[in-house]
Amino acid sequence: MDLTDLAWPAVAALPKDTPVVFPIAALEQHGHHLPLFTDSLLLGEIVRRVKERFSKTIVFAPLTWLGNSDHHLDFAGTLSAAPRTYLDLLNGLAENFVRHGFNRLVFINGHGGNDVPGKQAVFELRQRHRDRSDLLFLLATYWSLGAKPWETLPALQQREMGHACEWETSMMLKLAPQLVGDFRATTPVEAGNPFTPAARGWITKDRTMPGHIGSPHLATPEKGEHLLNVFAAEVAALLERVIAWDGRSWNG
Ligand SMILES: [Zn+2]
Repeated sequence: MDLTDLAWPAVAALPKDTPVVFPIAALEQHGHHLPLFTDSLLLGEIVRRVKERFSKTIVFAPLTWLGNSDHHLDFAGTLSAAPRTYLDLLNGLAENFVRHGFNRLVFINGHGGNDVPGKQAVFELRQRHRDRSDLLFLLATYWSLGAKPWETLPALQQREMGHACEWETSMMLKLAPQLVGDFRATTPVEAGNPFTPAARGWITKDRTMPGHIGSPHLATPEKGEHLLNVFAAEVAALLERVIAWDGRSWNG
């Protein structure tokens, strides 16, 4: 179900254990060859593919395109909600639906910069409602759900999500090739080792001058279709688990 298409009495009449999904993405620089709306377009497509399976069982809020992209602000066009603003935004979205009585709230994320504030938001939500045992707050980033897309398509060279990289460029070639610039002219930018496994604070220009990280020149639309399929399947599997949750257990 699309939240945008429902009248309020229809929302009020839904079983309160109906999961509510908030897709969250960004509008930020994606190198010289991809549009600013890349993360929102890609997550929108993954959610579109997933939604068909849950047309009667899950409410999907419209995609929130404004994300936390402060680390990209050295690149023109990027729009960002500052980290604390974004944290409040996510808390508020979820609180609205707690107020409406729903108890399974899921952020599906399509932008790396949303990961830390998203996890903080679900942490804070649980602390605030600590007297409730029936609440489930989740944050899931679509490429971090365990998929190893290269195992079923060995032509994929990257082993992790970069930025405007082989993976994102491939998915954009499948989804909106008319928006993809000269990706073949790009030079690979390695992810490097920033004191891993420590977490290092960074801004994007610490890592890349053109704006991409990874190997966009390797992109093909066939790789893109495979990646979209694999990621949609991972998100769908998670949502099946949310539906199957018994409403109280730690395990899900
Ligand atoms: Zn991206």
